[in-house]
Amino acid sequence: MIFESHAHYDDEKFDIDRDDLLERLPDEGVEYIINVAANIDSAYKCVELAKKYDYIYAAVGVHPDDVENMKKEDLKTIKELSDYDKVVAVGEIGLDYYYENSSKELQKLWFSEQIETAKELQLPIIVHSRDAAKDTMDIIKSTDAKQIGGVIHCYSGSSELAREYVKMGFYIGVGGVVTFKNANKLKEVVKEISIDNILIETDSPYLAPVPNRGKRNDSSNLKYVIQQIAELKNMSYEEILKSTYENAKKLFRIK
Ligand SMILES: [Zn+2]
Ligand SMILES: [Zn+2]
Repeated sequence: MIFESHAHYDDEKFDIDRDDLLERLPDEGVEYIINVAANIDSAYKCVELAKKYDYIYAAVGVHPDDVENMKKEDLKTIKELSDYDKVVAVGEIGLDYYYENSSKELQKLWFSEQIETAKELQLPIIVHSRDAAKDTMDIIKSTDAKQIGGVIHCYSGSSELAREYVKMGFYIGVGGVVTFKNANKLKEVVKEISIDNILIETDSPYLAPVPNRGKRNDSSNLKYVIQQIAELKNMSYEEILKSTYENAKKLFRIK
């Protein structure tokens, strides 16, 4: 009963074997996947995947790397795509000052705008934040995003900030990075916050956990993430599996 809260199976890295892989993952214990959009083209593909596979749900939105040419019209497309009931979140949206592929001003503008769209749709948000901790929190507060909630995916901030997000009803997304030797900050976060506030994710095809680090990632690798969280929290594999599954079902309102 693995709930994969964040993957990109529409990515071209899966072009050679996408259907084989997606038909096999349920046999590896993967019960649900949220396939998350990177841009508008990707959002259409996410919806197609959700229509094709019972166990796949979609999030639609534009990643901060891709907002340079974003238009008002794209917000309308996000709303239209959300008419489909297996679209369960707006994402991924946020700020990425590490790559800064789009200007900071445009990133902030479209992050805020997409939060407003999510509020209209009453859908939770999937937030990408890299090297932009303060501005991300500022926008989440100024838009009052806690009324819809969401997940800070591939969390890379401090424990203190994680607690602040949790207090606002947000979940902390933990993926393959937690298995990396040098990920002390993330390991601390996992130890300090309750399992009731954690979602597991791969961000496939990126960020494969140890022992598959560097390879193409897929949701079957979540077992290594669960194992690592179990060790850090001194809990059983089963407890981590069950809690993260229930957390995700609750956030994305999947019955
Ligand atoms: Zn991301
Ligand atoms: Zn992602």
